[in-house]
Amino acid sequence: MTILTNEELWQIVLAQIQFSVSRANFATWLKSTNIISNKNGEITICVENSFAKEWINNKYSSLILKILRNLDPEIKSLDFLINPYNPLKKILEETKNNPLKKLKEEEEIISTRLPLRELSVDKKTNLNPSYSFNNFIVGSFNQMAQAAAWAISEAPGSAYNPLFIYGGVGLGKTHLIQATGNRIAELFPNKKIKYISCERLVSEIIDAIKSQKIADFKKESKEIDVFIIDDIQFFTGKEKSQEEFFHIFNLLYHSQKQIIVSSDVPPKAIPSLEKRLMSRFEGGMIIDIGIPDIETRMAILKTKAMEKNLELENEILEYISSNIRDNIRELEGALNKLLFFKKMNNQTLDFETVKHLLKNLILFPKKKTNFKNIVQAVSNFYNLTEKELFLISRRKEIVKPRQIIMYLLREELKESFPCIGRKFNGKDHTTVMYAWDKINKGVKENDDLLSEINSIKQKLYNMAV
Ligand code: ADP
Ligand code: MG
Repeated sequence: MTILTNEELWQIVLAQIQFSVSRANFATWLKSTNIISNKNGEITICVENSFAKEWINNKYSSLILKILRNLDPEIKSLDFLINPYNPLKKILEETKNNPLKKLKEEEEIISTRLPLRELSVDKKTNLNPSYSFNNFIVGSFNQMAQAAAWAISEAPGSAYNPLFIYGGVGLGKTHLIQATGNRIAELFPNKKIKYISCERLVSEIIDAIKSQKIADFKKESKEIDVFIIDDIQFFTGKEKSQEEFFHIFNLLYHSQKQIIVSSDVPPKAIPSLEKRLMSRFEGGMIIDIGIPDIETRMAILKTKAMEKNLELENEILEYISSNIRDNIRELEGALNKLLFFKKMNNQTLDFETVKHLLKNLILFPKKKTNFKNIVQAVSNFYNLTEKELFLISRRKEIVKPRQIIMYLLREELKESFPCIGRKFNGKDHTTVMYAWDKINKGVKENDDLLSEINSIKQKLYNMAV
């Protein structure tokens, strides 16, 4: 038997696992990995960051071991090491050799790829084919949502129904639900899929009512197998349309048709969402997309910069990802701006130029805080010890400050509800959502609560992080 080098071993492993991973995830987490040592069958794999380590370890370690053992039965275990040097540089150096080709590609990217997204929409489904799972990057912030959407695309109507995905603006809701529709179209060409924004749906319903064609509208809707409605919070205040939608919803739901909706807030926080509709959503699967952490933001930026063939120093990538924190669309926007400048000026981008170009996106570095400071600020304000705040107790004087901590973790740090729950003795995410909702409503209705929260925030941002 020929003995394989570490590099050859790893190439075989990568060649095999790339079939079970989306292209974007492969490029983000796996492509720049390698085996750095094999000591008596104990393999060490070098990865780019701690998220990649966790991701590969959780999802692929047994597959990797299996492949490796097939190649070399002596292999016993896997270990990971986080790479202290930046592999992006290497990749960029490799593409440097052919500047002509690069410029051409860049022109192509600017002239075709950017507008393409707006133009190419499938007439039947209304889906945009450029949204796919292949270019959807998964991190801890959106892992659950991606997994549920993926499961639905494999078995529409029978996995999770309805699926309700919510999260802040620019965090990939539209991308994910469209990708789900596109994959279903690919796997089940006979299924009738319809994607529509809620705004459009409302106006179609209103038109149908006005022209007395609502019965036809409903009949047509009944034929749909997969109904995808984006930005459902737009139903706010549109009672009549909601009522009609509820009927369509029921027709589809009872014939096991798949319904997927997105919203920028949880169902409970949509004012005037019809109770019946709300309880339907609650009977399905509700998942939130949180905010990507800094490492994931770096990974997203790197992948997108590579896709755009845009060379950026690590310092610049760090600057962008530490300042644009809660919106992937803005991360992309920043890259497009830099790409445009580079193309117009044919000039390499240095740090100062980048800062200047992005000054409108990054007005001033956002103020920072953390979990420890939030807990401290709240406990000081209400004169409680930090220990008391985490006691399992329903005493009113403890419940309220605890809800405020949850609210602040969500508002100030954009943490996901399940993640906040874990910080409080593993409380369920619905408890956290309830707390957030209560305080969120409270500050709108109760001036005393608002001023309490404002003073807490003032103290919070005067603390050193
Ligand atoms: P939302 O609907 O939540 O406001 P979008 O789905 O429109 O956000 O996403 C904003 C932009 O960011 C889109 O261009 C989308 O392709 C991109 N994007 C969002 N999430 C991801 C992701 N996980 N991987 C790759 N691109 C993403
Ligand atoms: Mg959207």
